[in-house]
Amino acid sequence: KAKNEGKGRYVWFTASMQEETRRKIQVATHLPQAIENDEFHLVYQAKVNSKGKVVGFEALLRWFDNELGNISPAEFIPIAEQSDRISEITLWVIVQACLEIPHISEHYGEDIRVSINLSAYDLKNVHVTEFILEGLRSGGIPRNNVEFEITESAYMNNFSIANAFLAELKKEGCKISLDDFGTGYSSLSYITEFNIDTLKIDRQFVSQIGTSKRSELITITIIEMAKNLNLNVCAEGIETHEQSAFLTENGCNILQGFLYSKPIPLDALFSQEEQALLNLAN
Ligand code: C2E
Ligand code: MG
Ligand code: MG
Ligand code: MG
Repeated sequence: KAKNEGKGRYVWFTASMQEETRRKIQVATHLPQAIENDEFHLVYQAKVNSKGKVVGFEALLRWFDNELGNISPAEFIPIAEQSDRISEITLWVIVQACLEIPHISEHYGEDIRVSINLSAYDLKNVHVTEFILEGLRSGGIPRNNVEFEITESAYMNNFSIANAFLAELKKEGCKISLDDFGTGYSSLSYITEFNIDTLKIDRQFVSQIGTSKRSELITITIIEMAKNLNLNVCAEGIETHEQSAFLTENGCNILQGFLYSKPIPLDALFSQEEQALLNLAN
């Protein structure tokens, strides 16, 4: 079926697109009740240094809907962005993470960093940015234990607004990671102006270490660049010892991926089994 998009323009509209649209509408319809129905929770994925010591965690959102089951953030976050629901979700994540982080730092030490993902839309929403800055000033957000992850594309689309907010974050003593680095729209000249602490190499490159010379070269280049700019560099999505060895040999100082730990619920962070697993990675 071809769908008329006005002005005599036609685009192909296939059955699978129709199915996709139906699913999107379904997700968008269920999303508004997720918070009040208590359907969200956070899981945490460890980050380790080159010696295998846990230095931080990334908070990742999970949603279970009674009818739709588990829905991945890769699916519902873009829908939340498009349906103007992202800011309430972000606020929920921040408040919830800040309730849980003290337990994590009590257990893993006061230097532990827990990162919270922000959406592009959050950076240009004053309700969100003011809420975060207020949280940092009032102590509601434990500045020494928190870090925000923003995606490169988010940053590039609103460069001046985003950069002003990030400058404020830095002034409040907060750490910032640039997520999914290498896949966005980066211009090298911008990177020196970035108000960030850490570059996160995207999983796309990490997963091809050992199989793609090109991805290996890009990975080495990102690590070199981060070092020259005095930034930390974190690799996400590490699944094999080969990838881990390659990354540490080339100077990557923070490692994250299923090889070390999958994202797990808060209480599991404190279980003996999990501790043993994390130690095994050492
Ligand atoms: P991200 O921030 O780049 O997070 C990394 C994703 O890779 C996570 O997927 C994580 O579970 C997955 N991952 C980590 N290690 C491995 C590995 O070794 N192998 C493989 N195959 N995957 C690995 P997840 O949790 O499904 O999240 C997907 C994306 O959704 C995130 O990408 C982030 O962009 C977004 N997201 C998740 N939670 C939040 C949130 O609270 N707020 C916002 N705004 N976005 C979120
Ligand atoms: Mg992230
Ligand atoms: Mg990432
Ligand atoms: Mg990624």
